[in-house]
Amino acid sequence: MLDHVKDASDLPADEYLTPKELLELHQILVTQANELLDAGQQTVSTLTNERDLEADSLDVATTESDRDFSLRLAGRERKMLSKIRYALECIDNGEYGTCESCGVPIGFKRLMVRPVARVCIDCKTQAEQLERGSRVF
Ligand SMILES: [Zn+2]
Repeated sequence: MLDHVKDASDLPADEYLTPKELLELHQILVTQANELLDAGQQTVSTLTNERDLEADSLDVATTESDRDFSLRLAGRERKMLSKIRYALECIDNGEYGTCESCGVPIGFKRLMVRPVARVCIDCKTQAEQLERGSRVF
């Protein structure tokens, strides 16, 4: 953690995630990922845990019917899962919680609402306005 602090020394400290907040968000992301994986009967090596291993023996009986369901996961959920995995990678790298567009801290409150957010609320709003504008005119 200390390695990342010096990079952020010019940022307002109160906007920056504390280790406790980071841990909380990490937990939310892992829980969301596991929910998606449970729904799709898929496994990701970095996210498997004892709970998944125990469940495997029970899943054998329903493998055939679940196969169709996992194919249906392909769209929205798969996209969400890749966002979650990206966010978890950012936490590992110490880059999580910083706007990818302008570089300011995204803020704990926004991340609690949307843990996979990659830009701050200002950049998000601006992007949405541009998007809306291009549709209207
Ligand atoms: Zn921004």
